[in-house]
Amino acid sequence: MFSRYRIKVFGSVQGVGFRPFVYRIATNLNLKGYVLNNPQGVFIEVEGPKEELEKFLIALKKEKPPLAHIYGMELEVLPPKGYKTFEIRKSAEGGKKEVFILPDIATCDECLKELFDPNNRRYRYPFINCTNCGPRFSIILRLPYDRKNTTMAKFKMCSDCEREYNDPTDRRFHAQPNACPVCGPWIELYTNKGKFLAQKEEALKKTADLLKEGKIVAIKGLGGFHLACDATNDQAVNLLRERKKRGEKPFAVMFKDIEQLKEYANITPFEEGIILSPETPIVLVEKKPNTSLSSQVAPYLKKIGVFLPYTPLHHLLLREVGRPLVMTSANISDEPIVKDNQEAFEKLKDLADYILIHNRDIANRVDDSVVRVIDGKRIFIRRSRGFAPMPITLPFKLKRKVLAVGGHKKNVVAIAWDNKVVLSQHIGDLETYPATEFFTEAIETLKRLYDFEEEVVVADLHPRYYSTRWAQEYSERTEKKLIKIQHHFAHALSLMADAQVLPDQKILAITWDGTGYGTDGTVWGGEFLLTDYSSFQRVFSFKTFRLVGGEKAVKEPRRVALSILFELYGDNLSKYPKTVLKSFKPSEVKFLIQALKKGIKAPLTSSVGRLFDAVASLLGIKQILSYEGQSGAIMEDLYNPKVEDFYSFLLEDGKINWNPLFEELIKDKSPTEVKISRFINSLAEIVKEVVLSKDWNTNLVGLTGGVFQNKPLTERTVQLLQREGFRVLVHQRVPPSDGGLALGQAVFGGLI
Ligand code: ZN
Ligand code: ZN
Ligand code: FE
Repeated sequence: MFSRYRIKVFGSVQGVGFRPFVYRIATNLNLKGYVLNNPQGVFIEVEGPKEELEKFLIALKKEKPPLAHIYGMELEVLPPKGYKTFEIRKSAEGGKKEVFILPDIATCDECLKELFDPNNRRYRYPFINCTNCGPRFSIILRLPYDRKNTTMAKFKMCSDCEREYNDPTDRRFHAQPNACPVCGPWIELYTNKGKFLAQKEEALKKTADLLKEGKIVAIKGLGGFHLACDATNDQAVNLLRERKKRGEKPFAVMFKDIEQLKEYANITPFEEGIILSPETPIVLVEKKPNTSLSSQVAPYLKKIGVFLPYTPLHHLLLREVGRPLVMTSANISDEPIVKDNQEAFEKLKDLADYILIHNRDIANRVDDSVVRVIDGKRIFIRRSRGFAPMPITLPFKLKRKVLAVGGHKKNVVAIAWDNKVVLSQHIGDLETYPATEFFTEAIETLKRLYDFEEEVVVADLHPRYYSTRWAQEYSERTEKKLIKIQHHFAHALSLMADAQVLPDQKILAITWDGTGYGTDGTVWGGEFLLTDYSSFQRVFSFKTFRLVGGEKAVKEPRRVALSILFELYGDNLSKYPKTVLKSFKPSEVKFLIQALKKGIKAPLTSSVGRLFDAVASLLGIKQILSYEGQSGAIMEDLYNPKVEDFYSFLLEDGKINWNPLFEELIKDKSPTEVKISRFINSLAEIVKEVVLSKDWNTNLVGLTGGVFQNKPLTERTVQLLQREGFRVLVHQRVPPSDGGLALGQAVFGGLI
């Protein structure tokens, strides 16, 4: 009994060695036919005896290549056609695009072995890659994923590379970025003034020497440039801080291998697994005390962002230098990461002493991803390289195609259809013109790659967010429906979609962050929302207070503390702790108290993020922040899990009254660590008491918003709730912060 199977495979099946794999299993079973890539996925026609065809199907699902993700398969059984061979055919174009673009993947072990094998023809070649590793999203211009549609198109393969590329049994069969020293891209070193110094191996050696001398070198990587310097050299790290106007924001450090990394950081086996994963994100881990690492790498912090080399060039450089390197995204303050050579010479000339470029263009800029482990789970701080633009799958289908434009800070946009949401790479804070350009570029790229046209656009309710204004203008121009959604509701929906909550379920979502526009015009950020996919009810929130200076106060914990103190003691300054008063000039205090009395430039807020700031000021930890989230980052390091008690608070008619909490904290004479621990414990206790205060008709409690990137707070809260028998949902696939907002927006737009 002969027959012919026509099989369509959907998912991440291109650029992962899927066709050679199909070729291998088909020829092993002596089946005939062909396989090809088309914009919908992989298309297979295979014929032979029925039993062999069944074996083929089993192997197709079971033995698929490690990087392939199959989201669906269609099978048609047809009469045989009499194929004589099995072959891999040229990609077909046209039709609806349903293939997923793979993220960039770190150099694999086999390539690494070849890289350092003197007998290999790619010995020390900085662009070695194969079907299992190397660039993907960062070089793709359009689908299908073929060399001519990538930035490798300009390099013509030599005969050796061509042979590998065309040999179905080779590891580099149809590896689109395949290259070697004879035919592929190369590196060149320049001064910051653009003077050529060296190329290839000589450039590599020279760069390593310069880094060892304490110089700052801009290095072109996978998704953009890094600024690199010796992480053990105080002077170099300080200089980089000054030039980058980076204040105290921590730098990530790259180590040559996991052994070297372990000399500088205490990591758990779970963290080690993430550090070594093909996505190689930056992982926040515990810094070891008293190492040679410069204290300027992560001032005031006990943790540090670490990662391993993920391109051959990184491997070569890190081994050559022998010391850990600061590797921070090369950009000017809030602008996007620099990706093009010309751009590097223009924008980085005052930041770097030297610039190491190469001639493989970056099509899509993509920053490093950042994760940390909380409650034994990998939590995203930033989801970008290695993950974007892989889709987030939903446990239901959306009714329409959606474009979601995200928030304002840590912006990420998304397109969504069927049961998939594709989130863009990290775009960043939309506060500069180049950032807003990147925002529109990211939207255009996603739409082009997926041949996507949305039916509705979803944006945040905030009237002054750039993304909202853009969406407004765009929807008017294109006559598309615009839906605006409240910030914290979007956080809650993002968590529900992330945690695969079903459409008929509801959750009690605890959405705590720094700021978000509320439906009543006040600034929200300490909300308890009873939520399903169509609506929310704000069932509890923190008591509001007037935040003196509004936006200005976000950077100045002392202003937040003053606002809280005014709430507690009015203008009776004798009751105000000296720590706070001392941080201002007396005239400033007078002026601010007047502003608070009159309510001028002092919006009402219920933000929990601000409460962290207030405590940081009251305890004399930080009066002015150097970066967003700094107070929480420092405070969590001082948390002592042995402290069990907490401060008092009152639940009053849907409001959390924190007056007793701050009064007790101000009077508390215990060491700072104890006070911080009691404060964090109080927040966890507040969640527990609110959750237990009433039957909410659901067993699901979710934690979302930037505040839940705080490790001790999240862990303590999860523990307390689980002890009471609740199922606690936390983010696993997108960040809890505004970096995950677009997922919630997309789901809302797709369902209503
Ligand atoms: Zn490889
Ligand atoms: Zn070659
Ligand atoms: Fe938020």
